[in-house]
Amino acid sequence: MARYTGSVCRLCRREGTKLYLKGDRCYSDKCAIARRPAAPGQHGQSRKKVSEYGLQLREKQKAKRTYGVMEKQFRNYFKKAEKMRGITGENLLQMLERRLDNVVYRLGFASSRAQARQFVRHGHITVDGKRVDIPSYLVNAGQTIAVAQKSIDKMEYFKGIREEGEKTVPEWLQVDFEKLEGTVSHLPAREDIDTPIEEHLIVELYSK
Ligand code: SF4
Repeated sequence: MARYTGSVCRLCRREGTKLYLKGDRCYSDKCAIARRPAAPGQHGQSRKKVSEYGLQLREKQKAKRTYGVMEKQFRNYFKKAEKMRGITGENLLQMLERRLDNVVYRLGFASSRAQARQFVRHGHITVDGKRVDIPSYLVNAGQTIAVAQKSIDKMEYFKGIREEGEKTVPEWLQVDFEKLEGTVSHLPAREDIDTPIEEHLIVELYSK
């Protein structure tokens, strides 16, 4: 399936919740969910009773869209999560959180996951001092994720966020805004992940 290239706000309206796909705009009164909360399309306003399957499907779509992952890759994450020790749904969310693009976003180096993905792809991000340009790279505890020095010197954007200073980052990460680098103190547990996803619904969907 090709990557979705339409309006991302439409995806939020479809899921009926903010997925925070557009950076600063998501926190402003320009947010489409704040202005037009109904689902897109001709029948968006009509309320239909949603089946159990429908609920499970929507939850999976919400997770995929939040983290910007395509169906096949998402299913692969699920298969890996099933084989890991522990609770499948939590394993799945932990893997999504450990993606390098998500970590760059969580550290506050990008205003959305899409922007973070672009920074990674364009070679602006290093892991333990080495350039990594794979957005799906999974970080590990103890690793250091940083904006490459060349990119800081070259791009006003990075100088700007350094000047803006500290932002709140999740408990499992530590950040040094002076250096634009962060470390993974430990892998995220379920309580460290604030994404409003009911992962048990996704597990039920794939377990049919
Ligand atoms: Fe979603 Fe952000 Fe668009 Fe609001 S502005 S609808 S949160 S992508």
